[in-house]
Amino acid sequence: MTTAVTIIGAGLGGLTLARVLHVHGIPATVYEAEPSPAARSQGGMLDIHDYNGQLALEAADLMDEFHGLILAGRQAMRVLAPDGTVLFDKADDGTGGRPEVQRGELRQVLLDSLPVDTVRWGHKVSSTRALGGGRHEVTFAGGGTVVTSLLVGADGAWSRVRPLLSTATPAYVGKSIVETYLFDADTRHPATAKTVGGGSMIAPTPGREIFAHRERGDTLHAYMGLSEPQDWFAAIDFTDAAAATARIAQEFDGWAPELTALITDGDIAPVLRPLYALPTGHRWDRVPGVTLVGDAAHLAAPNGEGANLAMLDGAELGKALAAHPDDIEAALTAYEQAMFPRSAEAAIFEGAEAHGTDSDINTAHGLVAAFTRHEQAH
Ligand SMILES: Cc1cc2nc3c(=O)[nH]c(=O)nc-3n(C[C@H](O)[C@H](O)[C@H](O)COP(=O)(O)OP(=O)(O)OC[C@H]3O[C@@H](n4cnc5c(N)ncnc54)[C@H](O)[C@@H]3O)c2cc1C
Repeated sequence: MTTAVTIIGAGLGGLTLARVLHVHGIPATVYEAEPSPAARSQGGMLDIHDYNGQLALEAADLMDEFHGLILAGRQAMRVLAPDGTVLFDKADDGTGGRPEVQRGELRQVLLDSLPVDTVRWGHKVSSTRALGGGRHEVTFAGGGTVVTSLLVGADGAWSRVRPLLSTATPAYVGKSIVETYLFDADTRHPATAKTVGGGSMIAPTPGREIFAHRERGDTLHAYMGLSEPQDWFAAIDFTDAAAATARIAQEFDGWAPELTALITDGDIAPVLRPLYALPTGHRWDRVPGVTLVGDAAHLAAPNGEGANLAMLDGAELGKALAAHPDDIEAALTAYEQAMFPRSAEAAIFEGAEAHGTDSDINTAHGLVAAFTRHEQAH
């Protein structure tokens, strides 16, 4: 195949695609809005699953590098009641199928695996348009255009490529997350560090939850989930860190202090992240010369599958293009026909968690049951 692939977005989906194409000798260029690899902290840990994310890394021939990134012990998982009672506690015995890595380190492994200049930083796409015959023109906010006969949107939630395929846009899921970090937790916040444990901890109730995990060293990364409309959050001034912290902490009044310390003792100003999703089962009719991977195709409320699915999409699309070197449409059809049901299935679980459509999934006991069901399914 001689057609160079034009990929928009250097997230995990776009980079995995570029890498798998490279493994198969297919050239690709990735256009990324951010000015450099270090432009934004990639923050957070990701558990990379043996049924999707790890399959992608195998296809990318990066398993050795991946094993070098794994943070030992981080697959430990516990579920707490709001009063701090431990309801479920699973140690990390090293045999689990979801090892944790730092997202930024994984992204760097992918970047390092590509030929120099594969990623063009500082290229924010402002619009795309069809030229006919499977060709598309991509226009950049800073000026300039490229014309391509194979365009892949890996540009996340607010994709500028998606309108070529679909009129769908992400909608607010009715829930937002407030994010904080506690640094040097073992010494500065020992009770909370002990409560979070060696891996992940979640304390869920209907409409309010606290999730935290231990990142590299003894950094605790916490996410407070609050099911409220967007105007509820708009009434809170997040530019005033102390006031926003106090307002969010008020919502967890009566919870165990070692849990609420994840809010009140935060070392950064709390960060508000509204959650959006595309309709579950989002799909489109085949349009010659263009497709989507990752959040651009199937943004869902987070539950730990999104980055894994984005990577698997990238790998599967790369493999499909390598398997059909003379027939782009056959490759895109094969990729999409597998991707649509795969992402819809994952979103059903995510949607149930985000919207509480499972009768008791937003309670601690319901969550334990959901975890068990989900693990059994894989
Ligand atoms: C709070 C939170 C926690 C999460 N936790 C997990 C988790 O634990 N595990 C998991 O698997 N998933 C998790 N997810 C989901 C995961 O982050 C996403 O599903 C994943 O990042 C999608 O990857 P992607 O490559 O499709 O898109 P992205 O990671 O969004 O990457 C898109 C890239 O495109 C670039 N871009 C955007 N617009 C343009 C443009 N116009 N022009 C050029 N470039 C552009 C962006 O700068 C970015 O680099 C979480 C999500 C959230 C919000």
